[in-house]
Amino acid sequence: MSIAPQDWQAAVAAIGGAEQAVISCHLHPDGDALGSALALHRGLAKAGRRALVSFSEPFEVAPHYRFLPGVQRLTPPEEVPRAADLFVCFDTGSLDRLGSLVDAFEGAARTVVVDHHASNTRFGDVNLVDPAAPASAVLCRELLRRLDLPLDREIATDLYTALVTDTGRFQYQSTRPETHVLAAELLAAGVNQYDVAKAVFETNDIRYLRMLSDVLGRIAQVPAASLVWTVVTLRDLQAHGIGMEATEGLIDLVRTDGASDVAAVLKEQPEGGFKVSLRSKGATNVGEIASRLGGGGHALAAGFTSEQGLEATVDAIVEAVGTRRAVAADGPPLQPASNATARTR
Ligand code: AMP
Ligand code: MN
Ligand code: MN
Repeated sequence: MSIAPQDWQAAVAAIGGAEQAVISCHLHPDGDALGSALALHRGLAKAGRRALVSFSEPFEVAPHYRFLPGVQRLTPPEEVPRAADLFVCFDTGSLDRLGSLVDAFEGAARTVVVDHHASNTRFGDVNLVDPAAPASAVLCRELLRRLDLPLDREIATDLYTALVTDTGRFQYQSTRPETHVLAAELLAAGVNQYDVAKAVFETNDIRYLRMLSDVLGRIAQVPAASLVWTVVTLRDLQAHGIGMEATEGLIDLVRTDGASDVAAVLKEQPEGGFKVSLRSKGATNVGEIASRLGGGGHALAAGFTSEQGLEATVDAIVEAVGTRRAVAADGPPLQPASNATARTR
């Protein structure tokens, strides 16, 4: 499903005619969300247009994305007007994913949703939604072109970061020849690709690396569900003096278990329950599973929030993958978060 020409025209008319545009993305923004939002903001600002860029509380940029050109121009969410002329959001599959900016979206005169989640609920006045796009940044690039807003090194760096992160460094199934053509265009606009790689993929806090030893030490397989999972507890964070935002790349290590198609990382939340990241190598639609469990995402990368305990959350995943735990009853029983230890390896 690609985007209809009249939807592009409606988006260009809405953005081109706006007095003041609020630009945003989903809460806990990743590279694609932040990179796309910052790129459009800079494009408009350079053209002398009134625009601001923001995202929901908790208003904290994950360490890996603090180098992105334009982060210093982010406006705190409480300062975002609640009745703007226009609200544009990137990479946001449903309204609730705007977090503390939901009311700003609802109060805006006109809204444009730019996204590539298959689960997108088309909650804008105009919806540029293409599930075949490997990143929202691909749609952002096309939008900039149609708005006659030229690339510069900063915009290209934001978009390149979005592209390289959402494609898993051009590895995932969504990567097409055109994806590389876009990457080439961005590099030609002046991106220093090693600076991006170094910041995003080659830099970790030593305390995070030490914490990995605990978290990977308790990694567990549920063979009957072709699942591998682990949990990051608040105790782990405390013991190593690190924040949960440093663990974004953990799922990419866990998913490399050669015996499992589905990977899950459970992140214990201060208010109780877990944020869960799910990935599949291709045999399981984890987007459907996450949707069924109250979240959403893509077929091969998705997430949800669980208000249940550790065991019940893992059970729910196993059950949703289509296999009862009883089938995998040869391993030791699951244990609570406080002493979750290594099981089947
Ligand atoms: P993550 O595991 O946080 O990197 O997220 C993977 C994908 O799932 C992203 O496309 C997210 O937008 C989506 N996702 C994660 N958590 C949720 C949630 N609670 N509700 C809806 N979508 C989510
Ligand atoms: Mn995202
Ligand atoms: Mn994305």
